Amino acid sequence: MLISFTHRKSAGRDYYIALSVDMANVLGQLLPAELEDLRDTSRFSVVDSSGRIIYGDLLDGHSGFLYEKPFPSTLWRWRLQMAPRNIWQLVSESSRRRAADVVLISFSLLVITAGMLVLLLAVRKQQRASELKSEFIANVSHELKTPLSLIRMFSELIALGRVKNPEAGREYAEIITRESDRLARLIDNVLDFARIERGKAAYDFATGDLAEVVERALDVYRYRLERERMTLSSEIEPGLPPTRLDDNAMTLALLNLLENAVKYAAPGAVRVTLKRAGEMLELSVQDHGPGITEDEQARIFDRFYRAKNARGRGVRGSGIGLSLVKHIAEAHGGRVGVRSLPGQGATFTIAVPIAREALPESEPARPLVSPS
Ligand code: ADP
Repeated sequence: MLISFTHRKSAGRDYYIALSVDMANVLGQLLPAELEDLRDTSRFSVVDSSGRIIYGDLLDGHSGFLYEKPFPSTLWRWRLQMAPRNIWQLVSESSRRRAADVVLISFSLLVITAGMLVLLLAVRKQQRASELKSEFIANVSHELKTPLSLIRMFSELIALGRVKNPEAGREYAEIITRESDRLARLIDNVLDFARIERGKAAYDFATGDLAEVVERALDVYRYRLERERMTLSSEIEPGLPPTRLDDNAMTLALLNLLENAVKYAAPGAVRVTLKRAGEMLELSVQDHGPGITEDEQARIFDRFYRAKNARGRGVRGSGIGLSLVKHIAEAHGGRVGVRSLPGQGATFTIAVPIAREALPESEPARPLVSPS
């Protein structure tokens, strides 16, 4: 038996309402009437304050799915506990879902990390490209400034009549010619490079004799090589077949290779060879300068890239010469490569295919793939 009471106030008077609760009735009729309908879907129990079961099933191991609430008033020491009937199915579903969540979250993290990495690399690449561009602008401006100031200085000396003897006058004029040649070559390079960058490089191909182009370029350049104390030797295989070529572009490519030999390997010997190798003609420029380390050999053909030997020794340059040579070689359906052992010089080779019409019908020229 349980006595329960409540306080009420009405018309200025206090009332206490007392209730006598028949516990046997509560357990035998009230609780079954209220709870038994739930048995199909749920398991339940009523426990007292010490956790003893007063009515219903023993609910254990239902952590996470157990609903518990104390009775509000009269039976306030008791608590109603409920759990779904298909608890084990829910538990296994939940652990399956948790495992799937873990996999999904790990995968998302992986994708996010990979995305960040790609972004970081792209930003780094962009940064490097803009650094190279500003370096290029600084280098070109420097390369333009030096010959210009030399030309200005020596022409002023001549104009002011400050020439000691005819020998010195000739020397001044030679310096002016040499520096204006250098200026013209640099401007040619920059203009061609800009055309390539804008995708507007236009070549004027015709079937021609590469040997003739090489001989003409060497004639023009021999003087400069000798002035720089480079001894030039050449070996051109006689009777070479024709190639489809743009004379001016090919001359520019060869002059760039010779100019590099002067810049990096003077004084010393430079050897130019032109020979047939299968369906290709190979034009090589060999010097005995510092050479290029293996890890830099592939990169020197990238635009603006200057190897350590150039940057370290303060050799003037803009880093576009070899990228032009590569573009020209590839536009001819050929390739350019370098063989070098550091300290023992470098050999640059441009290979271009022989003109189709010069090959026997049975063996047409194969298209070439670009060098890596
Ligand atoms: P630049 O000479 O203006 O720096 P290039 O594109 O012509 O640019 O050459 C790229 C780099 O390749 C040079 O900076 C230099 O480090 C290296 N290189 C080119 N030719 C030679 C060579 N004959 N010997 C050694 N290093 C060379």
